[in-house]
Amino acid sequence: MLYGTITEFCSPVTCPRMLAGDQYEYLWQDPNNPKYKRATKVSAPEYIENLMTWVQTYFNNEKYFPSKTGVPFSKDAPAVFKTILKRLFRVYAHIYCHHFEHITELKMHQHLNTSLKHFVLFCNEFQLVDAAEFAPLQELIDIMLASDGK
Ligand SMILES: [Zn+2]
Repeated sequence: MLYGTITEFCSPVTCPRMLAGDQYEYLWQDPNNPKYKRATKVSAPEYIENLMTWVQTYFNNEKYFPSKTGVPFSKDAPAVFKTILKRLFRVYAHIYCHHFEHITELKMHQHLNTSLKHFVLFCNEFQLVDAAEFAPLQELIDIMLASDGK
């Protein structure tokens, strides 16, 4: 939803690579999609669109998100959830590193900050994402968590 507010500023022309600053580039890979069997360089909007479509396939899959109580999760569900969160973080990283001015112009920065903080606290609480994955936004995350007294 937050990314949706800045899609007009994030195109294959403005963001031909899925970057977070100049140190981190994310390649798209999906073993179930012949086009992306290998890790592939893609534009930021292509990465994010692929990601959202890919996540949606899991949301719609009863093995991973059972709609009835008492139905067991698939054995590989924890690994899938971790990959989903790891990849979703990259959208935050791209937005912060490349579109923060757009976010502030739209006065969305507080929503973005709150959303990131919840995301990081949730991931940390349940050890879902390796700390190293947060590196592109480490400084910001340290400040956010420190201001909490944690
Ligand atoms: Zn972009």
